[in-house]
Amino acid sequence: MTIAVVAAMHEELGALLAQMPDEQRVQVAGRDFWVGHLHGQPVVAVLSRIGKVAAALTATVLLERFKVRAIVFTGVAGGLAPGVRVGDVVVATKLLQHDLDASPIFPRYEVPLTGHARFAVDTAIGDALAAAAAEVLRDPVGLLGPQVVEDFGLAAPRVHRGLLVSGDRFVSTAAESAVLRRDLPDALAVEMEGAAVAQVCHDYGVPFAAVRTISDRADDEAHGDFTRFVSAVASRYSLALVDAWLATLPAQ
Ligand code: SAH
Repeated sequence: MTIAVVAAMHEELGALLAQMPDEQRVQVAGRDFWVGHLHGQPVVAVLSRIGKVAAALTATVLLERFKVRAIVFTGVAGGLAPGVRVGDVVVATKLLQHDLDASPIFPRYEVPLTGHARFAVDTAIGDALAAAAAEVLRDPVGLLGPQVVEDFGLAAPRVHRGLLVSGDRFVSTAAESAVLRRDLPDALAVEMEGAAVAQVCHDYGVPFAAVRTISDRADDEAHGDFTRFVSAVASRYSLALVDAWLATLPAQ
């Protein structure tokens, strides 16, 4: 059965799409779903577009139309916790929507009627992605070349595991990220899609995991060299990571 690999933007999945020689495009709801193989595994790769609704819609189509057996979200995120630096990789253990607040009817962050604020990822996929990330980050120069490593200061990238938070906001001021750090002290990084897909996968009972490369520190410089970083670094990390993970799966 097929595995789905999702990213929000084209630049995040560019390198991976280039490695799917037999891919066939299926269009649904204005999105391109690329159905093919990667490492001998049946895969459907898709760009969700940006934000929680776009991501939830994409996940629903993957589950209903393509009957995928797992969804992995990849791409970039803004680092929140101290020590989560540009070029590091965050493998989520749990995901939460930082802009969801139906209090006082429900506790802040809780998805109404589910009893959950934090949605756990599939442990086996999370473990495998973390192992793949550690392997990939061992040699950034080999993967990205010396110039890119120097330009972005990626000498010693690290893998972190923990809480990833999502919301419909590009967090690009130090003031806003300080508030997130205060309210959610264990959040490692912030992005705009993961927790929405985690919620959909939870409702369907399908395994989900998320792995993000840190593109910025969610502060006043967050927009900086964003696009170049995504194509030069994050897109290649995503391919290497997903590839290393798929290589560990039994042949189909
Ligand atoms: N400046 C970019 C903004 C894209 S939105 C552009 O014009 O194209 C940012 C995307 O990257 C989202 O899909 C989100 O998941 C992720 N992301 C990276 N850094 C983020 C941050 N600081 N806050 C929120 N999302 C972030």
